Amino acid sequence: MILLFVAMALMGLLLLAYVTRPLFARETAGALPAQEDHDWQKETLMEAVRDLEYDFRLGKVSQQDYREQQQWLALEAARVQASARRPSSRTRICSACGNPVPPKDRFCGDCGAPSSGKKSTGGGRNS
Ligand SMILES: [Zn+2]
Repeated sequence: MILLFVAMALMGLLLLAYVTRPLFARETAGALPAQEDHDWQKETLMEAVRDLEYDFRLGKVSQQDYREQQQWLALEAARVQASARRPSSRTRICSACGNPVPPKDRFCGDCGAPSSGKKSTGGGRNS
């Protein structure tokens, strides 16, 4: 029963942190860069992993619970990582070299071609 409690507590903590986050985020002026958000999520996950390992070493968590939760946390971490790497939806693709160009950049940082806008006439997508 105590194992179940520990698992619930862990989930509860994560959930609580997730739910209360907007309250803190709002205080620090709405325009946090997305990176900050991912850092925070990563931090939370790392903390959960540490807690889990600690509990496991103390024998509070069974091997099976430990594995399950570790798997879940790894999945979450991968998800956070993936969304951190994914370029923002407004990022354009350089029509000359195919590298992502941030929305505010007027020229491709890689080849210097002007990223004049969304729909480059001709090229791009030929499916
Ligand atoms: Zn380019």
